[in-house]
Amino acid sequence: VTDTYSFNASAALLPAPVRGRLREAIEDWQGTGLSILEVSQRSGDFEQLVDRVLSRLRAVLAVPASHAVLLAPGSSSHQFAMVPLNLLRGRGRAAYVVSGTWSQRAAAEARRWCAVQIAASTAGAHRVPRQQELTVDPDVAYLHYTANETLEGVEFAYVPDGGGPPVAADWSSALFARPLDAARFGVVYAGAQKHLGAAGLTVVIAREDLLGRAAPGTPTVFDYAVHREAGSLHASSVAMAWYVADLMLEWLAAQGGVGALAREAEGKAAVVYAALDAAPLYVNAVEPGSRSRTTIPFALREPGLQARFLEQAAADGLVGLTGPRGLRAGLGNALPLEGARRLAAFLGDFAVRHG
Ligand code: PLP
Repeated sequence: VTDTYSFNASAALLPAPVRGRLREAIEDWQGTGLSILEVSQRSGDFEQLVDRVLSRLRAVLAVPASHAVLLAPGSSSHQFAMVPLNLLRGRGRAAYVVSGTWSQRAAAEARRWCAVQIAASTAGAHRVPRQQELTVDPDVAYLHYTANETLEGVEFAYVPDGGGPPVAADWSSALFARPLDAARFGVVYAGAQKHLGAAGLTVVIAREDLLGRAAPGTPTVFDYAVHREAGSLHASSVAMAWYVADLMLEWLAAQGGVGALAREAEGKAAVVYAALDAAPLYVNAVEPGSRSRTTIPFALREPGLQARFLEQAAADGLVGLTGPRGLRAGLGNALPLEGARRLAAFLGDFAVRHG
């Protein structure tokens, strides 16, 4: 019997010990006799869980005291609105780097509240812009970019610098796959479902001095300062998502923290790209310097073979390779190097048989 490995990029893989403890928590959470879903969100136990998650997150990402760490309700799409509402601070313009689908969506949402200056656009170009290609007007309130475009598989290996305005960044599909120097950002956000376990919460790391100046009319639940002040417990929340985040953060720390995970992510991606590059059957058009560590879209030069590819991969225990456009290998933090190696071996074998 071979292990099954999932390459689905939209939901986090859960390490086996995390799954086991989750199962227990549905029945009896921490010996309380209650399911995690039955625990009062106003109980000391739940407050401790929330505090523990926030302090683990701060520790694992080494977030400095200059920045607040919170888990905001909702998903990354909520952040497309929360970023302008909180960061415009009376200004009427923001700059967006457009490198693919998700940055385009973020920019479109911002246009509801301000003028958007496109600092650079490489959408459709299979790469992210280089720093010297960026133009950021001095009057913008912030510069936004998407660290990893989950669909196009292009990733920034650097933090764009707008020459002054705070940087707001969507790290939804890049979290833990690269070291994150929080000090360089005004705001970093990442939906929890991709790397912390379950949908319903979004990691937000925000520079303290930017908070408390949300635009007039901002809904209370969209104001970062409200969540910071309430210790991320302003409103009833997704108990299960908090508990998964706790378990995942414990697991991440045990793996050696972000440095170790980033090295592993780099290693896993290298194995898969090497297999794709070695066989003419596969196409990945992304420029080498922009290749994603976590979401690798690819196609077969003979598209008619795709159904057979997926079928044979599944028979080999390799699932979740259907992408939004063609094929995609999502390399989650919990995917072991062995999973990437198995995929690489399959890519090689399939190309020999059908190339
Ligand atoms: N940003 C990126 C980079 C994403 O990959 C996604 C979803 O895949 C989103 C934002 C939107 O996320 P959500 O579904 O959490 O709103």
